[in-house]
Amino acid sequence: MTHRVAIVGAGPSGFYTADGLLRGRPDLRIDLIDRLPTPFGLVRAGVSPDHQGTKAVVRQFERLLAQPDVRFAGNVEIGHDLSWDELQEGYDAVIVATGMVIDRKLGIPGEDLPHVWGSWKFVAWLNGHPDFRQGPDLSAVRRVAVIGNGNVALDVARLLAKGREEMAKTDIVPEAGEAIAVAPLAEIHVIGRRGPEHASFTNNELVEMGRVGRAVALTDAAALAVQAPASDPTPERLRKAKNLEILRGFAGNKAGSKPLAVHFRFNASPVAIRPGEIELSTGTLPADLVITCIGYRGEDFPEGEGVFAVGWARRGPTGTIPTNRADSHAVAREVLAWLSERDPKSGPDPMPLSIDVAGWHRIDKAEIAAGTPLGRPRVKLVDWKSLLDVAQND
Ligand SMILES: Cc1cc2nc3c(=O)[nH]c(=O)nc-3n(C[C@H](O)[C@H](O)[C@H](O)COP(=O)(O)OP(=O)(O)OC[C@H]3O[C@@H](n4cnc5c(N)ncnc54)[C@H](O)[C@@H]3O)c2cc1C
Repeated sequence: MTHRVAIVGAGPSGFYTADGLLRGRPDLRIDLIDRLPTPFGLVRAGVSPDHQGTKAVVRQFERLLAQPDVRFAGNVEIGHDLSWDELQEGYDAVIVATGMVIDRKLGIPGEDLPHVWGSWKFVAWLNGHPDFRQGPDLSAVRRVAVIGNGNVALDVARLLAKGREEMAKTDIVPEAGEAIAVAPLAEIHVIGRRGPEHASFTNNELVEMGRVGRAVALTDAAALAVQAPASDPTPERLRKAKNLEILRGFAGNKAGSKPLAVHFRFNASPVAIRPGEIELSTGTLPADLVITCIGYRGEDFPEGEGVFAVGWARRGPTGTIPTNRADSHAVAREVLAWLSERDPKSGPDPMPLSIDVAGWHRIDKAEIAAGTPLGRPRVKLVDWKSLLDVAQND
């Protein structure tokens, strides 16, 4: 008899926790449960489709799924298919790795208008999340306002700015890629409430914005007469100073040199959104589409004995994929300490298995096979029916 651990959420933090647990107790039985038929959380549904290098982390996660005592339980939503109470009764420990992807609101008039999209809904659409199959109507969109000064804002602006050729080798949902390619886009405005010295862009992602084939990155030099905050710790200060240098390069670019312009606008707070425009503290800007990239919140989950939260569900929606590793390993150590003081529970297998790892691999294989002739890493199955049909058709 050995301990049984349920990890709810098969995203990075769930996998890193499984890894941490197995390092301490290779004999544990671990169920990695996800409401989707596919594992990997935001690596599949959030990370930009033109960043395949980032998505390569899933190879490490696949090695965990190959362990004999690790089960993938896809298409099982905790709180719906199985209650949190049932989970706590059936397992010796429960780990909440459910992430945090409800788009935060700006709290200004007009943000419920149909042309206002949260970044999660937008990115989930073009990444093929089966719950978000309706994208924005881009057929008449010339000007877009992207609200936010983090990497998700850069992802959104870049994905809109890139043309068909630059997205050809990615796993963007083809219909979404085509809708972007044929949209009459002319201007994308990336809008930050604070000055450029506070932007949380990472240097590489900002540099990338300057290298998009059909778009020129622009900004107003007047906003750049600032310095990275001296009080910041050195790595932060260096990152911000480098951002300012990159932005100064953008300020020297020539407007009109490419068909599309990406304008970085700083010190501009959104005040109200109306059809066709957004009012900022600095003036009004035409915008046929507004995409807010201002962070996320999560669902509540039960707390209690033997329940441990990890990843974004624990820390909030900040940090990259690697950030979750150390955090998950620390939580795994807490779980191991908890288990060491308890006898394993006996009882029937509590998990209603719907899609196991073999089912996920059938999806994976079908997607890769669909992508290969097109030179794409994969073409994703995007609706629930196709995902379930392929996964369950042995
Ligand atoms: C748009 C976007 C782009 C990003 N790009 C990058 C990037 O380029 N590089 C980088 O390093 N980081 C990036 N990140 C951050 C990175 O994705 C996160 O750090 C990481 O995914 C958080 O891991 P997690 O396991 O906590 O949550 P998630 O990855 O969100 O995983 C949570 C999982 O739990 C499942 N789940 C939720 N509720 C339930 C339930 N009730 N029952 C069963 N399953 C459930 C979900 O389906 C999901 O699979 C990005 C984030 C976003 C939002």
